Amino acid sequence: MDNCIFCKIAAGEIPSTTIYEDEEFRVFFDINPASKGHCLVIPKQHYDNVFEIDGEKAGRLFALATRVARNLKQELNCEGMNIVQNNGTIAGQTVFHFHLHLIPRYTGDQVRVEWHPGQADPEELAKLAEAVGRGL
Ligand code: 5GP
Ligand code: ZN
Repeated sequence: MDNCIFCKIAAGEIPSTTIYEDEEFRVFFDINPASKGHCLVIPKQHYDNVFEIDGEKAGRLFALATRVARNLKQELNCEGMNIVQNNGTIAGQTVFHFHLHLIPRYTGDQVRVEWHPGQADPEELAKLAEAVGRGL
């Protein structure tokens, strides 16, 4: 992808503070961190988002993210961590190359990942479960 900033970061054409890389993935610090240690895990291959990425690749990416999360926690002594992954403009995605955010959490930080809990209709949920589950 010619105009994708994360493709360029993945290839090392744009500098990033890289924590880890191998032939498939790069892990680097976010340039505008939500908290200390906020980093991103990306596949080097371009996929716009979760609707495109191959499941096996996503599985290996998340396995790597669990290792990064544990090392971040040990090094930064954070109390918790949000793992966030935005898909589509409406969901807050601004860079259209799949990435996982690892956001360490500390008492008194300014991070907010929130929504207003809704009310579920059990009948509607049952129908939806049937429809969405079909063919998985
Ligand atoms: P999104 O909103 O798409 O889920 O997240 C994109 C993230 O990429 C943002 O947190 C933003 O700060 C980060 N970002 C955008 N451009 C760059 C860059 O050039 N370098 C680094 N390290 N992070 C970037
Ligand atoms: Zn890309």
